[in-house]
Amino acid sequence: MIIQPIRRKVGRFLAALFFVLPFITIAGESAFRFDVPTLRLHVFGVQIWMQEFSLVLLAIMFLVSLFLLVTFVYGRVWCGWVCPQTVFTDLSCFMDRPAGKSLVSKISAHGLLMLLSLFCGFISVCYVVSPYDAIPALLNGNLGSIALGSTVVIAVLTYINFAFVRQTFCATICPYGKIQGALTDSKSLLIQLDSLRKDECIGCKSCVRVCPTGLDIRKGMQVACIMCARCVDACTVVMAKQKKKSLINYSFGMEGVNTRSELIRPASTVLALVCLFAFSLFVYKSAVRSSFDFSILPHPMQTRVTKSGEVMNAYILSIKNKRREDIHLRLSLQPGEQTPLSFRHNINDMVLVEGGLVEKFPLFVRSTGEPTEDIPLNITLTTDGDVLENIMKSVYFNVP
Ligand code: SF4
Ligand code: SF4
Repeated sequence: MIIQPIRRKVGRFLAALFFVLPFITIAGESAFRFDVPTLRLHVFGVQIWMQEFSLVLLAIMFLVSLFLLVTFVYGRVWCGWVCPQTVFTDLSCFMDRPAGKSLVSKISAHGLLMLLSLFCGFISVCYVVSPYDAIPALLNGNLGSIALGSTVVIAVLTYINFAFVRQTFCATICPYGKIQGALTDSKSLLIQLDSLRKDECIGCKSCVRVCPTGLDIRKGMQVACIMCARCVDACTVVMAKQKKKSLINYSFGMEGVNTRSELIRPASTVLALVCLFAFSLFVYKSAVRSSFDFSILPHPMQTRVTKSGEVMNAYILSIKNKRREDIHLRLSLQPGEQTPLSFRHNINDMVLVEGGLVEKFPLFVRSTGEPTEDIPLNITLTTDGDVLENIMKSVYFNVP
């Protein structure tokens, strides 16, 4: 089987995903985007606020452990199939072998790459600014210096990378390639010559000529190999003429013959457990995630003593509606047990808290006895009689 057409399809799909994700809208927002103006991460219809980044950290912990697990079992398969450096190097294949091309085709290739790099730069910016704001702003010439500067810087780096560096990056400076030895073991997946059939090699060097990092895989596994499988296809074509299978193949272990993986090993078991732990915690935290955030901060007018000698403290109660939809809320406050307090706030009626916004209300707490410094408050939010939230919050009561 020739592998490159499958690799190309996977690469085109991933590149298309990169270009369209900010434009796909779910519940009015990009499918995946970190919105810098509001500091919110949009992930397939869910918005995660800055204060909830523990969820993002858990997701990162899960993805990193999954990545390590896949690397441990399947070696550098990420490099050959999924890494943006490989995907975009393959897509910009018109930049390959410029030596044999005419001056006009070289200039055209560089011109096309510059345009694509600018497009990549702009799409990257659309991951932090809504493309539905950025495109009209770009057309009207008021994109803003930061967004415009970022587009140009990313475009220049992209152009230099895919015009001159290309797979040299994988073979030389890529840190992931450098630590492969620590991430794999003697049973991981490799691309290598079948050790039992090496005498069948006819020395045509097709496998060497197609290698983008200039390797001769017949000399054994080398860290610069990105597992792109071009040498496998080259040998498949050569050996097909002799009605034989390719001498170079994907195989597990160092002999080049084992096509079955040994999944259960100490390191893979530990990594699988870490994956499972991070994923379970992420699912649990997402399920118990509150739709509202409350904060109660002292009001500037602070503490005063009333004519009747009671102490009154003023606060600002902030309610953040983390949902997309607007909601009408009724708030009720109850002091904790035996707290001698009375309340006054202006939200006895239903109030509107718009989706994604914060509403602030003044709150006055008056002591009717000997107040303590920390007062527990039971805050209940209801809408249409249904209790939405019921939380305890402690506030500091200033006693002059
Ligand atoms: S040795 Fe084969 S799999 Fe490795 S980089 Fe070269 S062509 Fe790709
Ligand atoms: S393509 Fe196959 S037969 Fe030709 S040199 Fe490489 S391993 Fe040998």
